[in-house]
This record gives sequence, C-alpha cells and structure tokens, in this order.
Amino acid sequence: MDFQKDFPILKSSVNGQPLIYFDNAATSQKPKYVIDTINKYYQNYNSNVHRGVHELSQKATSAYEDSRVKIQNFLGAKSSKEIIFTKGTTDGINIIASSWAENQLNKGDEIIITTMEHHSNIVPWQILCEKIGAKLIISPINIKGEMIMSEFKSLISNKTKLISISHVSNTLGTINPVEDIVEIAKENNCKILIDAAQSIPHFKVDVSKIDCDFLVFSGHKIFAPTGVGILYVKNDRYQEMQPYQGGGDMIKDVSFEKTTYNAPPHKFEAGTPNISGVIGLGAAIDYVNKIGIDKISNLEDELLHYATDKITSLNNIKIFGNAQNKASVISFNINGFHPFDIGTLLDQFGIAIRTGHHCTQPLMNFFNIPGTARISFAFYNQKKEIDFFIDSLKRAILMLG
Ligand code: PMP
Repeated sequence: MDFQKDFPILKSSVNGQPLIYFDNAATSQKPKYVIDTINKYYQNYNSNVHRGVHELSQKATSAYEDSRVKIQNFLGAKSSKEIIFTKGTTDGINIIASSWAENQLNKGDEIIITTMEHHSNIVPWQILCEKIGAKLIISPINIKGEMIMSEFKSLISNKTKLISISHVSNTLGTINPVEDIVEIAKENNCKILIDAAQSIPHFKVDVSKIDCDFLVFSGHKIFAPTGVGILYVKNDRYQEMQPYQGGGDMIKDVSFEKTTYNAPPHKFEAGTPNISGVIGLGAAIDYVNKIGIDKISNLEDELLHYATDKITSLNNIKIFGNAQNKASVISFNINGFHPFDIGTLLDQFGIAIRTGHHCTQPLMNFFNIPGTARISFAFYNQKKEIDFFIDSLKRAILMLG
C-alpha cells in the first residue's frame, strides 16, 4: 500500500529530484489528516482552554482533553491523569529532574544512564548532580551497541535512586530490554524513566506492561507537530513531585499569603499550553491507530533488513549498531570519507539523511569517531527508495573517490 499519498511533503522535489526522506529519527513527516486537523482548530474554534464559558473555549478544551485520553489509551496508562503535556522529550526529562529528582535525591545518591543516551538524557542529570551532589553512573555497552546487562546489574546499589534509559537508541537503533531493566530496578527499589522518543513511532509501547515510573516522548517523531510531547507519570509518583513552574492553570487558589495547586496533571502544565500541537498529536495518534502500530512495525522491520543487507554488501562501509534487537535506524561510515560529504552529495540526489554526532557525543567517543551518516525509516518509506539510495551512495563514493 502506498502510504506516501497521505503525506503532502513526500510528493515534493529537492534539488530537482523526487524527495526521499530518510531522516525520520530526527523528525517524522506529517500526514494531511494532522495538518487539516490543526487548520480546522485555527479556522473554526481557536480559543484558550480551561478558561472560558464560551462555546469556542469549551470546544477547544474538549479537543485538548480528548487528546489526553487518546494518549492514555495509546500508552495503556491506567488514567488520563497520568498524562502530562510537555514541549517534548527534552522538556519531559527536565521536568522529572526538577520536579521529582531534585526533591527525592540527596547528596551521594546515584542515577544510572547508559553510554548510548541522547544528550537530553545526560545533561539534565549532570545539571542536577552538580546542584545536589548526586552522582551520574554510566552503564557500558558492547561493540554491537547493546547494554551489557551483567555490568548494568553490578552498578546498582542502595545509592541508586533512578535509572533513566532510552528505549531505542536514536544513533544505533538498539532496542533496550526495558521490561528486564524495570524488573531489576524494582528489585532494587529504584525508580525508572524511559526515554521513548525513538520507540513510540515504531512499535507498541505499553506503560502498564513495562511498569515504569516515568516515560517521555516527543510528538514530532510520531507524525505530530513540533513543540508538543508527553510525560507519563505513574500515579504513585505524583505525591513525590513538586511543580517547578508556576503560573496560570496549575493553581487552585492564589493569594499573596498562600497558593494551593490544581490536581495533577494540570499542576504540571503551567501557562497556556500548545493547544494546536496537542490537538495535532491526538490526530496523529488517530492516524497511527487507523493503520495499526503492529503493521507499522512490520513494514519498518522489512525496510531495515532490506537496507541492512544492501549496505552490508557494499565495500568499505561500516555499520555502527548491530544489536540483535534493532529499530529502523542505520548509522554507517565509509572508509576515508567524512559523513558530512556523503550527506551533502546524497542531498543533491534528493535524499535527506542525517550526519554528525546525533546528539550522542559520548557514544561517538566510545566508537572513537566524530560522527556517522544515518538513515532512519518510517513505514511510508519504500524498497525502491532504498534501491535508489544504494545507487546514489555508489555514485557518491565514485565522485568523492
Ligand atoms: N531522546 C532520544 C532518544 C531522541 O532521539 C531525541 C530526539 N532526537 C530526544 C531524546 C530529544 O527529543 P526532543 O528534541 O524532541 O526533545
């Protein structure tokens, strides 16, 4: 089935060539259905939420809150109250660092992450550790880009208070065994945050099954607009959280003497939110549900294996990330060429790929490289696009050679 027809941008040309979009791990394209839903909001019922008695505000509020329920169902959360709207993954992690970790952790406590984390799951913890005297512990990976579970277990002690781990590496595609990790975390009385930025668009993520404390993702990776994301908080954790932003909507009563707060999730959504973004995210979830996340997963697995076989058959190419469980991301380097040059030449053929460190500089240090070229698929990509990419890559190598 041709899903590309649902995505207006995929009909466009770049540098005189039909666009081939292989940069889905950076951001996904948006279906017409999502674009139209946002348009309708602005054209027909643009208004602030939770504030007005008037018709437009009520319509906007109900569309906004409907999105929360859609996300709840999509994630398998027990209650829509466990869903906080954020700006994205980075925002979600920073909220947990400030609202939960800052008042739950003490000097000498430890937070475990892995070598493969995105900067947004490193830097907020470094800032926190500096502030409160906690320690960041790095769980190592093997050369295939997989966590070394025995080493991970050995790092846990009674000082470990939080384990914060990406579900899928945006650079290597590695799928981490989050259910095993949660089990180990629980045995050791640690709380767990899952960065689901790269898993949520690709396969079923069920917070009740994973049983994590916190989970974050960005709307823009799952066909929704930028500037909106989700922070799932297991209900039990709310009593341990303090708001780190104050303002409108997050309060119950304000006086100069004393302020009381609204109930969660509103307690953590200060100010006018990204209403059109939230409604757009709800539409994106409807769109994904209509196709079926399992179908999306199967289509992408096929693309991943097809492309991996083709790339592996080329000379002088090294793939970084050969985990047994992998999502549709392939990072590679070609002997003697800078990834930036490969990316620039492929752009001339209309192919959008990502080059650089992918916000994972410590991971680049582990592999002792400055960066990689990265292709990443969504379900709307096609095998014939991969064929054209391989031909173009061969041409690029000849041109550079
Ligand atoms: N974590 C991972 C694994 C990611 O891939 C990304 C985005 N590249 C982020 C976090 C940060 O997401 P955002 O920039 O949307 O906040």
